[in-house]
Amino acid sequence: MESIRLTKTDFIQYLQCPKSLWLFKNEPTEYPQGEFSTFMQKLVREGYEVERYVQQFFDNAGDRNVNFQAEFRTGDGLYARVDALENMGDGTTALYEIKSSTSVKTDAKHNHIKDACFQKVCAERAGQQIDRVFLVHLNGDYVRNGAIDPGAMLAFADITEAVEEVESETSAEIDAALTFLASDQDMNGCSCIEKTRANHCDAFGIFNPEVPTPSIYSLPRLRANKIGDLRMKNVLGLDDVPDDFPLSENQRIVVDSFQEGEPKVSAQAIRKFLSELIFPLYFFDYETFSSAVPLLDGTSPHKHFPVQYSLHILDADGSLHHKEYLERQARLPDRLVERMQEDFGPTGSVVSWHASFEKTRNREMAERYPGNADFLNSLNDRMVDLEDVFKTDYVDAQFDGSTSIKKVLPVVCPHLDYKELEVQDGASAMEAWQRMINAAPDEAGKIAADLLKYCERDTFAMVEIYRFLIDLVR
Ligand code: SF4
Repeated sequence: MESIRLTKTDFIQYLQCPKSLWLFKNEPTEYPQGEFSTFMQKLVREGYEVERYVQQFFDNAGDRNVNFQAEFRTGDGLYARVDALENMGDGTTALYEIKSSTSVKTDAKHNHIKDACFQKVCAERAGQQIDRVFLVHLNGDYVRNGAIDPGAMLAFADITEAVEEVESETSAEIDAALTFLASDQDMNGCSCIEKTRANHCDAFGIFNPEVPTPSIYSLPRLRANKIGDLRMKNVLGLDDVPDDFPLSENQRIVVDSFQEGEPKVSAQAIRKFLSELIFPLYFFDYETFSSAVPLLDGTSPHKHFPVQYSLHILDADGSLHHKEYLERQARLPDRLVERMQEDFGPTGSVVSWHASFEKTRNREMAERYPGNADFLNSLNDRMVDLEDVFKTDYVDAQFDGSTSIKKVLPVVCPHLDYKELEVQDGASAMEAWQRMINAAPDEAGKIAADLLKYCERDTFAMVEIYRFLIDLVR
């Protein structure tokens, strides 16, 4: 193994799970890194963009002695590149940790205090005294109006005391991490075998190859104590779950589906759901854009606004029409809402998947455009969530514990998928839209076509799933 290097990112991974960091550092070819997702690329780009505005903020201040990206190394492998370091003029030094979030986070997955503390410990062990520590984040209430105003968009939180409180503990954890990484570890098994799926990382299958897919971890809301009870009985696969093992109704349905090799269907409940729909049916889906640094006047950090929709309209006689809209400029959804007014009729159910997302966008736009509020609120009143059917009334172990349309569609409508599409998910759509509005006309046209195809697939998928349900309970 090469000599150990421990960065802030490594350290945070260590705090979440020492063993996953050990695998990453010691067996990098085994580590399931997957692709650097479009979403992750966007986060990294946004982080750099926020850093540029912090730099601009200090530049505007004129007389501040700030060094960006100062690097610190220690002989035992610690490495820190500090976002900003300021010589305060009175002989003291302040360290700035820059984040694109809208608050100082201290949860298990994102602990900004620990992040900053690692940087301080590393810098100090490399000989740089740090007297104050600031976390620079975005002001969630900032509303862009013209050029970005870094002073209004950025918030500087003095976290010196919070960092000092955890410093000795963090320093010990850093030493423990270095020791742990240099140790030998068993590749067989890891502690998440006792925990619920929400805790598992991508390395779960590497350490626990005996766990099949689907498994007891695919059961909805299965608590750790139940996992323990099942493991006591040597049960990992759904085929081995005993008939008398106490499970919730939703969990038992998944087990039954797996053991019987077929979905568990409540035809009566599905019939009721379908009978309450009012024609014409409007199968509807938004694509939205959001960014850390607000793109447009009137927007705030990380606030979504719709840039596209697809609408399939199914009449009672079975005829299907498609409507769509794609905003091709960097522009708020005023024209989009106008087009929606033209495309939606006054009556008929609006069918979405995970409808809370569409409803929230409608509520936000109703506030932004009071003249359209009645229309947007009425869409919400008419909205039903097709995903609900697959939570309780049609349960298939093949969904692997998820009711996302990307999991349900290939099981119930195997003739339809997203594989051949250039844009395959919402994060890629967001990234593509941003490329499109900045692209030359030819390139922009191609990206627009890809975006339209993707959104159309989402609503056509709902139409096909609806038809599948109709056939099922006919
Ligand atoms: S599955 Fe859990 S215990 Fe195992 S390596 Fe991942 S995070 Fe660590």
